Amino acid sequence: MKQRETNRENKFIVSKYLPLRPFIAINILGLIVVRKENLHLYRNELKRHEKIHTIQMVETLFIGFYIWYFSEWIVRLICSAFKHGFSVFKQGTKAYSSILFEREAYSHQNDPNYLSSRKPFEYRWLRNTKL
Ligand SMILES: [Zn+2]
Repeated sequence: MKQRETNRENKFIVSKYLPLRPFIAINILGLIVVRKENLHLYRNELKRHEKIHTIQMVETLFIGFYIWYFSEWIVRLICSAFKHGFSVFKQGTKAYSSILFEREAYSHQNDPNYLSSRKPFEYRWLRNTKL
């Protein structure tokens, strides 16, 4: 399953309104929704980024991905707000980029060989990595 999953391209659709700004694309159960005005940005790095998320979803049986993702975002948002202040947008962005799933995806989106060499549950090992 792993090899098959890493070789398959994510299907994507173009939307005028989703995802909300400043996001370029969102991965919903492996289907990528790309904001129309950002379609020119949906290139290899972003495709690879979303592919990493799709593999993370498969590993966590989809529902686990969303529960983990949003729980970690909320916890990091609250911790970051208490530590650095309550600027909602700034803290939201900081919390988003600190999520383990995002850290793995951003760390490896520029590596064309990453998906073929990636170990299952790789994001577990990124806990102490600073971006
Ligand atoms: Zn992402």
